[in-house]
Amino acid sequence: MSRHLLEIKDLKKIYPLRNGKNGFFGPKKHMSAVDGVSLYINEGETYGLVGESGCGKSTTGRIIVGLTKADSGTVIYEGKDIGAMSEKEFRPLRNELQMVFQNSLSALNPRRRVGDILDEILAVHQMTDSAARRERVLDTLRKVGLSEEHYFRFPHELSGGQVQRLGIASALIIGPKLIVCDEPVSALDVSIQAQILNMLVELQRELDLSLLFISHDIGVIRFISDRIGVMYLGSLVEETDTETLFDKPLHPYTKTLFAAVPDPYIKGGGFRALEGEQPVRTEDFSGCAFRSRCPYATEKCEKEKPEFREVEPGHRVACHYIGK
Ligand code: ADP
Repeated sequence: MSRHLLEIKDLKKIYPLRNGKNGFFGPKKHMSAVDGVSLYINEGETYGLVGESGCGKSTTGRIIVGLTKADSGTVIYEGKDIGAMSEKEFRPLRNELQMVFQNSLSALNPRRRVGDILDEILAVHQMTDSAARRERVLDTLRKVGLSEEHYFRFPHELSGGQVQRLGIASALIIGPKLIVCDEPVSALDVSIQAQILNMLVELQRELDLSLLFISHDIGVIRFISDRIGVMYLGSLVEETDTETLFDKPLHPYTKTLFAAVPDPYIKGGGFRALEGEQPVRTEDFSGCAFRSRCPYATEKCEKEKPEFREVEPGHRVACHYIGK
């Protein structure tokens, strides 16, 4: 039976709203970037998190790897509550939870050569034997489709795809168990995207990695994920395995997302693509988050927040009118 490597429960994160003062001297308003997200990721599994930009995907990912602190909720990794750990207690786990960003270049030291960047990561993690470090660096470069030839280059001398490969190498080199991939191919040409996605799938199988793959791109999410969570305005609105989601999407938001994709094999169920923007979830927000854009919204949706519940085995949906 597959084992949960990571489980997050009722995660919440609030940020002060930019330009959100109540009058000139009034109290500052806040917005919920993440509002009660619960999910698990099994060992060796890829969980895809999809939704429009600004719905809280990155914040969720950053909380999981410890880059952002949640206001409430728990992050259980291998049975341990890592959200409650001190920095010192969390340090040994840091290399097991890694993150790859959309723009890896900005996270790399531009004055260091590729080999030195990777070598330094190993040195920081107390690998003292320099010959062993060099061997590991070269092995990792080969794993991500780079070679010895790239060892002495500077990051700005690499192509966009190669930079993302280097970003993946930086995450891989210290042997993580879970990598949060935050839009890692979104800035690349489609042909390069496919190469990197194929590489990630192979690496995952070879190294038995778990991935939390974040993207706004339905096609990318469909290709890479075993299970998918659809997020809207800080909350999950639907979650199931990839085949079921694309065969039988249930939540109106999922259907409108699919309707926006010009692919005849992705079913939007006759729905129209969404117009307008997501509202902001401020403290006084009530009811269903999707109600302002939902064609079926009723008075109940304005007043009551729908529970995110299992409507079929392994298929969770947050809508008053589904599965009843
Ligand atoms: P996504 O990854 O889905 O695009 P994010 O998690 O980046 O969404 O952002 C969710 C919301 O939280 C957005 O409205 C964003 O502006 C806000 N947000 C994210 N980080 C911060 C921050 N450090 N300070 C203030 N607001 C933030």
